[in-house]
Amino acid sequence: MVTPVLTIVVPCYNEEEVLPETVFQLSGVLDALIQDQLISNESTLLLVDDGSRDATWELIERFHTTNTFVTGLKLARNAGHQSALLAGLMKAKEHADCVVSIDADLQDDVDAIREFVMKYHEGYDIVYGVRQDRSADTFFKRATAQGFYKLMTRMGVNIHYNHADFRLMSRRTLEKLEHFQEVNLFLRGMVPLLGYPSTKVYFTRKERFAGESKYPLRKMLAFAFDGITSFSVTPIRFVTTMGFLLFALSVVAALYAIIGKIMGATVTGWTSLILSVWFIGGVQLLALGLIGEYIGKIYKEVKRRPLYIIEKEVTAENRELAVQK
Ligand code: UDP
Ligand code: MG
Repeated sequence: MVTPVLTIVVPCYNEEEVLPETVFQLSGVLDALIQDQLISNESTLLLVDDGSRDATWELIERFHTTNTFVTGLKLARNAGHQSALLAGLMKAKEHADCVVSIDADLQDDVDAIREFVMKYHEGYDIVYGVRQDRSADTFFKRATAQGFYKLMTRMGVNIHYNHADFRLMSRRTLEKLEHFQEVNLFLRGMVPLLGYPSTKVYFTRKERFAGESKYPLRKMLAFAFDGITSFSVTPIRFVTTMGFLLFALSVVAALYAIIGKIMGATVTGWTSLILSVWFIGGVQLLALGLIGEYIGKIYKEVKRRPLYIIEKEVTAENRELAVQK
């Protein structure tokens, strides 16, 4: 039997604190799988530096010379988690038969990778890692995430509950993913659209091994908003916010007007007039903002800007060259 080449893709943004441990643990996983002849000894670890401002890239270069699994991709600027991940997946599919994507912070259980590979051997093209126990996450993160998954599902988006970007994909699915030419990336919504035999593997989500979350509340909300736009789309979003505020104010104004009416302190006809003005104004702004949001998305898609720019690369080939020299 020919054993498949596996590449583990890890997007890294300012992850110097956790990276040594991540590389250590993932190398261990690869080693064990190779020992058990489940994957080929040409399997690699692909670390994608998403324009980090700390020593992440220097670390990757160092690991590249000391650890034969390690290859690296340096993006010219911070492209964001989804784009960095896509950069890694597209690179990995050039030589790998199957690719596992995992965050750098070790919140996802590295031991689940073995189960992913077993499922791949059973014939599945996509294996979704699903968080069974999120007790390590804060109550707030859990609640907002749950609300988000529910909202997405209700709006008819096929998204796997509690699955983020910890998954295995076969090369043929990645080749198809390449045809999805969208700029507004939301991989966990795109992958289920591919079809192909897929299954789930459940794991327990852990706390971040070291360093801080690169997804503060603001980024999380923006990511959620993009899932359901960044230069000049901001003013349109401002209109939406104003719409919400006006809408809320109209409710207050309504109460005021109704109470005033009951107490007989108003001119006849004023109540209904003022209510309509506030309410319609708020709803109109809200609708305009929402339409603007979609136009903003179209604007971004039409520009067709590259999602990421690769600045440097360290590969298995140029390691051999370095050794030969
Ligand atoms: N990440 C990235 N680019 C960014 C933000 C994050 O490549 O602009 C990476 C980060 O290094 C990590 C993964 O995306 O490997 C998930 O980020 P994080 O763990 O901070 O998010 P959380 O788990 O808190 O949602
Ligand atoms: Mg994390």
